[in-house]
Amino acid sequence: MKVIETRNEEATREIGKILGKAVKEGAVITLNGDLGVGKTVFTQGLAQGLGVEEPVNSPTFTIVQVYEEGRMPFYHFDVYRIGDIEEMEEIGYEDYFYGNGVCLIEWAELIKEILPEKYVEISIEKDLNCGFDYRKITIKGEEYENISFG
Ligand code: ADP
Ligand code: MG
Repeated sequence: MKVIETRNEEATREIGKILGKAVKEGAVITLNGDLGVGKTVFTQGLAQGLGVEEPVNSPTFTIVQVYEEGRMPFYHFDVYRIGDIEEMEEIGYEDYFYGNGVCLIEWAELIKEILPEKYVEISIEKDLNCGFDYRKITIKGEEYENISFG
C-alpha cells in the first residue's frame, strides 16, 4: 500500500501522470472516492501519462469512453449512474477488462462483482482537518507501489 498526499488539483493530476507513464498493458485500475474528490482530475493525469492529448472528462451518457491515441488504448469507465450490472454486459466490458489496453473505472465499488481477480486499487479521500484542498491518495497493487511519485 502506498499513501500520497496532495494539496492541490495539479499535484493530483501529476500523480496520475506518473502512474500513466508506468502502467502496463492489460492493467485494470479501480478508482473510488466521493463526488468531487478528484477522480476525474487523477484520470486526466493518467491519460496524459499514457500519451492521450485530447481532453478527458467524465463520460456522462456512456459508461465507457475509449482513447486510442496513447501508447496503448485507454478505456475510461465512470459507472456512477449504472443501474444494473447487465449494462456492463451490454457494452461488452470483458473485451476492455481482458484486452490489451488500460482500464480505469471511476466508482468501481458499484461493480465489485465483475472486477477481475487482479487489479490496482486506488482511493482518494478528503480530510477537512487538513484543509479544503487536501487529498489522501491510496494505491494498492504490488507492481505500482514502488514507483517514485516524487
Ligand atoms: P470526481 O471525479 O471525484 O467527482 P473531479 O475530479 O471532477 O471529482 O473534481 C475534483 C474537484 O476538486 C475539482 O474541482 C478540483 O479543482 C478540486 N480539488 C481541490 N483540491 C484538489 C486536490 N488536491 N486534488 C484533486 N482535486 C482537487
Ligand atoms: Mg468524475
